[in-house]
Amino acid sequence: MDFRFSEGEEGFRREVREFLDAELAPEDEGEPFDIRTEEKLHTANRFMKKLAGRGWIAMHWPKEYGGYGASVMEQLIYNEEMAYRRAPLVNQSGTNMVGPTLIVYGSEEQKTRHLPGITNAEVIWSQGYSEPQSGSDLASLQTRAVRDGDDYVINGQKIWTSNAHHSQWMFLLARTDPEAPKHKGISFFLLDMESPGVEVRPLLNVAGQKGFNEVFFENVRVPAENLVGEENRGWYIGATLLDFERSNVSGAATARRDLEELVAYAAAERRDGGSLLDAPQARHQLAEMAIEIEVGRGMSYRVASIQDKGGIPNHEASMAKLFHSEVAQRLANLGARLLRLHGGLREESKHARLAGKFTMEYMNTLGAAIAGGTSEIQRNVMATRGLGLPRG
Ligand SMILES: Cc1cc2nc3c(=O)[nH]c(=O)nc-3n(C[C@H](O)[C@H](O)[C@H](O)COP(=O)(O)OP(=O)(O)OC[C@H]3O[C@@H](n4cnc5c(N)ncnc54)[C@H](O)[C@@H]3O)c2cc1C
Repeated sequence: MDFRFSEGEEGFRREVREFLDAELAPEDEGEPFDIRTEEKLHTANRFMKKLAGRGWIAMHWPKEYGGYGASVMEQLIYNEEMAYRRAPLVNQSGTNMVGPTLIVYGSEEQKTRHLPGITNAEVIWSQGYSEPQSGSDLASLQTRAVRDGDDYVINGQKIWTSNAHHSQWMFLLARTDPEAPKHKGISFFLLDMESPGVEVRPLLNVAGQKGFNEVFFENVRVPAENLVGEENRGWYIGATLLDFERSNVSGAATARRDLEELVAYAAAERRDGGSLLDAPQARHQLAEMAIEIEVGRGMSYRVASIQDKGGIPNHEASMAKLFHSEVAQRLANLGARLLRLHGGLREESKHARLAGKFTMEYMNTLGAAIAGGTSEIQRNVMATRGLGLPRG
C-alpha cells in the first residue's frame, strides 16, 4: 500500500494552493453547505468566475466540453484543498449532475445551449428529485408530465430543493407513464425556472437559514426539446455520473480544518485562571476526534484509489459518506460543548467564539446525514452489497 502522490500530483496540489492563496481572501471563505445569504452568494459567484477563468469549474468533464479532464487523483486533490480552505463553491448540481448527464445523453443542441453556462459560472442549476412522499424511495415520485403538442405539461411538487431560490434552471424527474412499473415511467427534463406556473417557496432550516425550498408546478409548459434522452428512461439517465470522484474527501478536509481551529482555541483560551483543557476528558475527546478524522480521510483515499484503478466503489463510497457525515455531527457537538456557554451563541452574537461556527454546524450537520441518501440507506447498501446480506 502506498498513499504517496506522484510528483505531478504534488505539483498540481501546489498549484491549487497558490491559486487559493492569491484568490481567496479569508473573509470570503464559505460554509460547507448551501449558500444561505445573498451576500454569500455574491462572494461565491465572484470566486466561481475566477475558477472559470482558470478552467477549473468542471474538473472531471472532458476538455472538449469545457472541463479540465482531471484524473481521479487530481479531482481528489482539488476537492481536498478547496474544502480545507472553505472555498465557496456553488452549483454542484450543475457540475456534478446535470452537466455529466447532458454530456452522455444530451442532444447536440442541449449540450451547446447548457454546458457553457455551467463552465462559465453563469447559470446555477437545482435538482428537482425529492417530493413530499418520495425521498429514499425516489422511484415512487408523483409529479406528472403529460405530452401536449410540442410541450410537456408539468403538475406536482418537489421539496428540499437546494438553492432553487438562486437557480435559473432545474433538472427534474417527472412521471410520464403512470401505468408502467415505477422505475420505467419516469423522464428527465430541463426546466427554465422563469416558466409560468413555477413557484419557489424557501424553507427555513433548523438554524433559521434559507437553504432548501418547496417548488410547485401548476400547468408548467416545458418544450419537448427539453426532454433529455428517451421518454420513460429518466430513472437510468438521472444516475449518470461520468468519471466523478466519489470519495467525499471534502468532508474529511473540512473536519480537519475545523478541528485544528478548535484545538488552537482550546489551547489558547484562559478561563478563571485555568485552561479549557484542564478537564482531562477534553484532551481525550479532541484526540479521539483527530483519530476519527484520519480514519475518514483513509476511507476517502481508498475510494479514490479504487476509482483510479478503474474500479467502481459502491459500498466503500457509502461507508465514507456515512462516516464523514456522522463525524461532522460529533465534531460539531464536541466543539459546541467545549466552548461552554459560548457554544450556544450564533454567529451574529458579538460574544460568539470562532464566529459561532460550531453552534451553526451543530444544527446544519443534521442535514448532512440525510442529503444524498440517509445514513440508514447507506447502511443498507453496506449490508447488502458490502456484506452480501439479503435485502430486509
Ligand atoms: C440539506 C439537504 C439538502 C437536500 N437537497 C436536495 C436537493 O437539492 N434536491 C432533492 O431532490 N432532494 C434534496 N434533499 C432531499 C434528500 O434527498 C431526502 O431528504 C433524502 O433522500 C431522504 O428522503 P426523505 O426526506 O423523504 O426521507 P424518507 O425517505 O421518508 O426517510 C425517513 C426516515 O426513514 C428511513 N428510511 C427510509 N427508507 C428506509 C429503508 N429502506 N431502510 C431503512 N431506513 C429507511 C430514512 O433513513 C429516514 O430516517 C436534501 C435534503 C437535505 C437534508
